[in-house]
Amino acid sequence: MVTTDSTPTVILKPGEADRVVAGHPWIYAGEIQRVTQPPSDGAMVQVKDHRQRLLGAGFFNSKSKIHVRMLDSRRIEADEAFFEARIRAALGVRRKYMPAATSFRVVNAESDFLSGLIVDKYGDILVLQISALGMELRKELIVGALRKIFSPRAIWERSDAASRKFEGLGEVNGRLSGESDGKCAVNLNGLTFETDLREGHKTGLYLDQQANYQAVSHFAAGAQALDGFSFLGGFGLHAARAGAAHVHLLDQSAAAIDASKRNAAANGLLEKCSFEAVNVFDWLKAQTAVKPHEKVVPRFDLIILDPPSFTRSRASVPDALRGYKEIHLRALKLLKPGGTLATFCCSHHVGAGLFQDTLLSAAYDTRRILRRVAAYSQSPDHPVIPMIPETEYLKGFAFEVVS
Ligand code: SAH
Repeated sequence: MVTTDSTPTVILKPGEADRVVAGHPWIYAGEIQRVTQPPSDGAMVQVKDHRQRLLGAGFFNSKSKIHVRMLDSRRIEADEAFFEARIRAALGVRRKYMPAATSFRVVNAESDFLSGLIVDKYGDILVLQISALGMELRKELIVGALRKIFSPRAIWERSDAASRKFEGLGEVNGRLSGESDGKCAVNLNGLTFETDLREGHKTGLYLDQQANYQAVSHFAAGAQALDGFSFLGGFGLHAARAGAAHVHLLDQSAAAIDASKRNAAANGLLEKCSFEAVNVFDWLKAQTAVKPHEKVVPRFDLIILDPPSFTRSRASVPDALRGYKEIHLRALKLLKPGGTLATFCCSHHVGAGLFQDTLLSAAYDTRRILRRVAAYSQSPDHPVIPMIPETEYLKGFAFEVVS
């Protein structure tokens, strides 16, 4: 059914329309003045400002703090053709900015104007992640559109994000169509990474670093390199392929270390790599522990740090900053002059400025002068829409140790 004048209408309070007009898709309960007729949860509604001017249409859910997730500034019908067109548009962005990639995020929710829907492509397998009721109720349409566009070997659903409970949804993890046992070899920039779609991080692995793996590997030629928080070996193995003399990979998860070993072997890079299942904080502390009047001997040319988010909330930002400072302080002590620190922060609540300030404070304490040689963001398949600040979360820098 096309949204019409008889479609339930959500009318916003005076002053609450600007963000929606600017392109932000979320409307919170507190911004709503009234609803003309009670929509069922998950139904399409049209949204108007307090003067009855149409702002667009979106999915309603009274159970979520986000009462409406806007889909368009016009009235639309969320049928299979709608999903097909929007997914094809998203795919066009990937083809344009990552033409060589075979595995990438096809749809990144708000970044692609499909709030509550994520679709990842791992070769010929697709993984779907739904985090909003409006999308959940239209899963069949979405799957239909995906099959039409990609003819995938299989489609998996990894709707097991904890945030689903905020929409009144349970967790789902399973195969939706096709043939696959969940095991999958993913090609990133010509290297192979094994993952298990049933239990890998996110929907399998971290696609958002694909461009940065390649970019950071430019600092690897001849290097003694360290990959801290290595997971499946994304940064470390790219560095090894790019000519690092040796790469040491650290992750506290023994399963991740085992997988990164298998990945190193599968890519013919095992001889250049060593592995340790260890807490990076403890490891760095042990490596930089010296007796009074002794100095730490720097021995790395490249240190890569890509930790998990240290904070999920604004309140714990100070603790997170202490953690970031601690690892950078110790890493800087281990870097030779002329060496490179490539470091990432995926916490939305710690912006690039604050992150850099924290690194500079660590540099000050270790009396290192840094030259910034690169700044990174998430790969182009996780597009940043500046009007939707939540779409930007990953930031990183490469610093050369001048002295
Ligand atoms: N660089 C990786 C992603 C890292 S995700 C990539 O591009 O794929 C964060 C990783 O850090 C996870 O594998 C997790 O097991 C590991 N981890 C979390 N806390 C850790 C700690 N204190 N010490 C070592 N590893 C840790």
